[in-house]
Amino acid sequence: MSEDTIYLDHAATTPLDPRVLAAMQPYLTTEYGNPSALYRTGQTARAAVDRARATVAELLHCEPRELIWTSGGTESDNLALRGILRTEKTGHLITTTIEHHAVLHTAEDLERDGYTTTYLPVDKHGQITTKQVAEAITPETQLVSVMLANNEVGTILPVREIGKMLAKRRENGEPTPLLHTDAVQGGGTLDLGVRHLKVDLLSLSGHKFYGPKGIGCLYVKAGTKLRPQQTGGGQEHRRRASTENVASIVGFAEALKLANEAREQENTRLTELRDYLITRVLKEIPKTKLNGDPKNRLPNNTNFSFWAIEGESILLRLDFKGIAGSSGSACTSGTLDPSHVLLALGLGHEWAHGSLRLTLGKSTTKEQLDTTIEQLKKIVIDLRALSPIE
Ligand code: PLP
Repeated sequence: MSEDTIYLDHAATTPLDPRVLAAMQPYLTTEYGNPSALYRTGQTARAAVDRARATVAELLHCEPRELIWTSGGTESDNLALRGILRTEKTGHLITTTIEHHAVLHTAEDLERDGYTTTYLPVDKHGQITTKQVAEAITPETQLVSVMLANNEVGTILPVREIGKMLAKRRENGEPTPLLHTDAVQGGGTLDLGVRHLKVDLLSLSGHKFYGPKGIGCLYVKAGTKLRPQQTGGGQEHRRRASTENVASIVGFAEALKLANEAREQENTRLTELRDYLITRVLKEIPKTKLNGDPKNRLPNNTNFSFWAIEGESILLRLDFKGIAGSSGSACTSGTLDPSHVLLALGLGHEWAHGSLRLTLGKSTTKEQLDTTIEQLKKIVIDLRALSPIE
């Protein structure tokens, strides 16, 4: 990416922090041993994996043996859903309509095997209530999977409240499902303490907090029955076979540690910038609205809809000016379908098609946002002049 690109797509991925790269470097070059090997280089790699596991465990307030390294958020979500449901021949899952496809498509696949799913509808901000979850529980329900924060609109969901409700049921001796949260978008910005959140499983992905891509982890509470979805060697206490991705594991832990150290200060800075961007866009561009929860939202997320224009057209024109953002539509089979998240929030097609997500990060400055707003104002005027819709 060119030095002067204004990168506003941190929810999609983040650049690798140079300090993370430095921590990884030895395990990509000289310390290449297989952690399962008994000679010294193997044991050096094993020690690095163990240290990384201990670091992440401390940050999540869990035990190291409760963590499983995976290839990313998608695999963590797959392992959580498939690994729990497949401990029984039949079963029921409760989730929401705004989950990432890593959860939704996995649920659909499990349905083809005979499992059932309840998809809880969300309100206009993308919120659900604990009451909705409680009412959907049946004696068959094995798992509730609710994301910590939504990747498109930034809404932070009430996972801890759901966890508390489930804990109460358990105390009362009622049949109680386990709770999984896809915390991929909260990595680095939200409290990931698993005891605080009262979750049994939690997914994370390294590339959302300035770590490497292709590495993730799944927290699984001790004592939870989980059916491995990848069989082979005995790695990860027989829960996920394959030689450990040592350098990336080291990078994951370093990135999460650094993000945690900077969290408070960076969240304050990002929240100010986010609110500045939101206020100016809503004030200066007519027929515009903010998607997602106005209050309970990720500190770095903005998602707007511009009436009667295509998000893709805005994106292409922003790209031409060196600004990288994202739209809420996915180009599938030649048609632009509005995002399932925006439709679940109840947006009509004219609003859903005109969505633009700008997600901020470490490199974002107020000057960059000023430039983006000025460009956006011109682009919206131009595109509206071309639009057949009033
Ligand atoms: N879950 C959420 C909420 C995400 O935002 C993403 C990635 O965008 C994923 C899961 C998938 O993570 P990965 O890209 O590491 O497979």
